Amino acid sequence: MSNGVERYVELAARAAERRAADLAAIRKCRFDTIAVHGLYSMNEALNFNQGSIIEPMYMSSSQAYRDSDEMEAALGYQIPTWCYSRIGNPSMYYFEQTLALLEAYGGDIETSCCATSSGMAAIASATDPFLAIDPGNPDQPINFVSTCQVYGGTFQQFAERKMKERGIECRWILDSADLAEWEEKIDRNTRFVYGELPSNPGQAFFDLDRVIELAHAQQVPVIIDNTVGTPALMRPLVRGADVVVQSVTKTLTSSGFGISGAVIARKNLISRFGPDEMKADFAMYLKTLPNRDNGQNLSPMNCILSLNDMRTLRSKVDLFSRNTMAVASFLEGHPRVEKVSYLGLPGHPLHELASRYLQLVDSEHERPDGQPDNRYGHLMSFNVEGGAAAARTMFDGLQRIWRATDLGRVKSVATIPAISTHSQQGEEGRAMADIPPNLVRLCVGGEHPDDVIADLDQALAAIDGKVSVQVPYEYSTGGASSATTARGE
Ligand SMILES: *Cc1c(COP(=O)(O)O)cnc(C)c1O
Repeated sequence: MSNGVERYVELAARAAERRAADLAAIRKCRFDTIAVHGLYSMNEALNFNQGSIIEPMYMSSSQAYRDSDEMEAALGYQIPTWCYSRIGNPSMYYFEQTLALLEAYGGDIETSCCATSSGMAAIASATDPFLAIDPGNPDQPINFVSTCQVYGGTFQQFAERKMKERGIECRWILDSADLAEWEEKIDRNTRFVYGELPSNPGQAFFDLDRVIELAHAQQVPVIIDNTVGTPALMRPLVRGADVVVQSVTKTLTSSGFGISGAVIARKNLISRFGPDEMKADFAMYLKTLPNRDNGQNLSPMNCILSLNDMRTLRSKVDLFSRNTMAVASFLEGHPRVEKVSYLGLPGHPLHELASRYLQLVDSEHERPDGQPDNRYGHLMSFNVEGGAAAARTMFDGLQRIWRATDLGRVKSVATIPAISTHSQQGEEGRAMADIPPNLVRLCVGGEHPDDVIADLDQALAAIDGKVSVQVPYEYSTGGASSATTARGE
């Protein structure tokens, strides 16, 4: 006897109700609790996963159906289904739900998430649907507006893949702090506005709330790369942005196990262009249509590894931020350092602006005055005095800080952007984004900051041909003790 398509639709509706109740319950919890549990409830574990307290890794290409009716209902998207792991997978679902909740934390908004195989795939997935030809107006010129201080790969994707190969106009914002420039460049043919803040590696920052206002006044959606800040410090969707992209590879995971990305979007986003179903639930639209066809979704293994890493996001970002502040303060006073760029330093020209946005989530609950605490993340950069050659000598002298093009790691990592992440964009592109050859990008991890400082100190001494002096400098950071007292003597 056949069960009938309706029967499956009915059962699915009941399951959806149960999940909605789970969702409502976890949404009431604090950030850390959401990061630890996500949507993986006891109900989910006991009924569907043999009681496993950890989300299972479903290493399976596809899902089987009970009969033709269930298959018909599933493939017609009438019932929740994962069907085939290029489109969905239960492990992917647990990861996506958790990240969607974290990016929506503290806001009265509904979000969804589509996991992708890398941060770059997330950026392509998030932007390309907005750049499609409008069938009702095929000759309409298309442009998009983006900060020029973006990750090197993003710069290439916009300049080469979109502008050069497809003839789509990218209007670079040269000074993202200048709101007049945004206003002038956004017009009726702008399909989206794109911004990265704080930018990698330059620490550029802009007034996100005002840029959202300017874009929305023209019904243009705002897409934000929140890789550096992470939802532990900033949640652009809650502030009104429409789409967030994440290189999950970086701080969200920090272990460095692999490459992954995600697109997180608010439901009912604002856009003059595009079909209604795309605006209603952008991430789900991506998942079930463009990304199904283009095939850049994430493997179940990377989903579970990423999910597991995200559980401690808030405390990791807190620790990395404190350590970075200590290291930045040290470098600021070093004679071999021309300039230190870290938004946390009070002398940084964008410090005040960034302080309005970069706040450790839930920190207000820990302070007697109920005010949130600022944290500025793990990304900083500095210019070595003596040009490119001196920067390379210092860089080559590092003994513990890894020389790698990576960031957001639990291990400190440094790179010279001009010869690595930003080498492809050429001298002109680097000049536009303010990336000189003596700029060193440093991402401080979870080591004790005294050890990171000692490594930098001996590496900087190498510029003058000096042997390393392993004496830690004094540095000032809220309440931290000096190296001597920290030894308890
Ligand atoms: C690394 C990075 C990306 C690209 O992410 P992948 O996972 O390497 O593809 C995008 N944006 C920022 C800010 C990044 O640091």
